[in-house]
Amino acid sequence: MHDLTAAYSPERFRQQGHAIIDFLADCLAESLGQAPHDPQLQDTQRVVEMIDPDRAYDEFTSLFERSRNEPNFELKELFKHVYRRAIRLHNPQYLGHQISPPLPDAALASLMCDLMNNGMGVYEMGVGGTVMERFVIHSLARKIGYGESADGFLTSGGTLGNLTALVAARRAMTSYDAWQNGNQSRLALMVSDQAHYCIDKAARIMGWGEDGVIRIPTRQDFSMQTEALKPALEEARRKGLEVIAVVGSACSTATGTFDDLLAISKFCQQNKLWLHVDGAHGAATVYSSKYRSRVAGIECADSITMDFHKLLMTPALATALVFKDGRYAAQNFAQKADYLWAKSDEQDGDQTAWHDLAKRTFECTKSMVGFKVFTILAAHGEEVFDQNVTTLYESAASFADLIKSEPDLELAVEPQSNIVCFRFLADLPEDELNERNRTIRSRIVAAGHFYIVQTVLNGQAWLRCTIANPFTTVVHFESLLNTIRDLANSDLKTP
Ligand SMILES: *Cc1c(COP(=O)(O)O)cnc(C)c1O
Repeated sequence: MHDLTAAYSPERFRQQGHAIIDFLADCLAESLGQAPHDPQLQDTQRVVEMIDPDRAYDEFTSLFERSRNEPNFELKELFKHVYRRAIRLHNPQYLGHQISPPLPDAALASLMCDLMNNGMGVYEMGVGGTVMERFVIHSLARKIGYGESADGFLTSGGTLGNLTALVAARRAMTSYDAWQNGNQSRLALMVSDQAHYCIDKAARIMGWGEDGVIRIPTRQDFSMQTEALKPALEEARRKGLEVIAVVGSACSTATGTFDDLLAISKFCQQNKLWLHVDGAHGAATVYSSKYRSRVAGIECADSITMDFHKLLMTPALATALVFKDGRYAAQNFAQKADYLWAKSDEQDGDQTAWHDLAKRTFECTKSMVGFKVFTILAAHGEEVFDQNVTTLYESAASFADLIKSEPDLELAVEPQSNIVCFRFLADLPEDELNERNRTIRSRIVAAGHFYIVQTVLNGQAWLRCTIANPFTTVVHFESLLNTIRDLANSDLKTP
């Protein structure tokens, strides 16, 4: 293909597109176990086929060479190989990191999003994308229980959402203008020792250094010891630190445990601190009518980060950052401090126009992320979010019950979300037991019928599963546990 007219040909798009959609529908049916396995698709009925990175690189290099020599190169040939070398989230035996198998409707929105490529920095560069984003943010804010003055935006991942929120906290809480003049005191935040590492990263990016993150110890269930906040604050002040915020985890990353947001918010009010909730994973619990109480108090937070791509079936990245007081969303990145709060009505100042999104976000060019979420809401309603979150949490609870019924397995903690940590038990010294669990996990991944991850809790190695797929049932859990037992009882010392 050397001719631009042919490369952009709508007919080519139509013809290749039909073939690709048919192929992807077959992939989806196979992953969901709704189609007989196509032998041509090789090992794709497994969750993943893990191969050596250098071999994978060579494969794609030779695929590239074959493609360049093929006058009638079909995209499908490439896409087939990408599928083979992908991890397949729609397979119910995918139980790994926290990411959703996307709803097919949302993936179609992604396709259109990419073809339109609306830049979204200014309203003119994406009318539909801009207003859908506002709609999505406002419907989430209502679901959280925020009042009319709440506002926010979508951004590229929980990591960036948390950093953006903490930049706002600094702007709001310091007595001086840190945005204009830089940090003039030793700033710090408090967060549990189970928080996602991106909070630490954010503090360091803002120039707070290692002392900028005060780690609050956790209880046995890995939630923050909220009574430890007060002595930690006093100690930090004695050391000359200016603590401006507490970050609550909803939920924590390793075990999926929720901090007591009501207790933290009370502490923040008493001590005039900003409360940011890192709800990248679990703020989506607001959609679950059954489990909503797990995030009780979330509506007291000054800011909340929530990923639509973790529990809400949206292709990554799709992250909301919502502020209780929407003026922070509008003016967080205003270049000059005097713009802050200068206009009471957000409509009447250029700096604060809601529809020019680049003024609000880290990003300048940004894709039409809101379109994907809006598509899910328009086609299936909020009910589908409720169903998904509720199903996944129930599923995790039944997996935990199964683990508890097995004498050779130990559950780390009663799951509060869709994350389950457990380990194989044996009469072995601690380091050998850790090694055995690590070996079990690496053998599971090498076999590829399941995908699970691992974590370290109190210095011990644990197997970690995120139930991401609503079609994962007790049959899959039983099969996983049988696999683990087979591996554990075979001689793990010889490879
Ligand atoms: C996943 C996660 C993050 C990071 O979000 P990304 O979207 O991966 O950048 C931050 N905090 C928590 C609690 C998470 O679970």
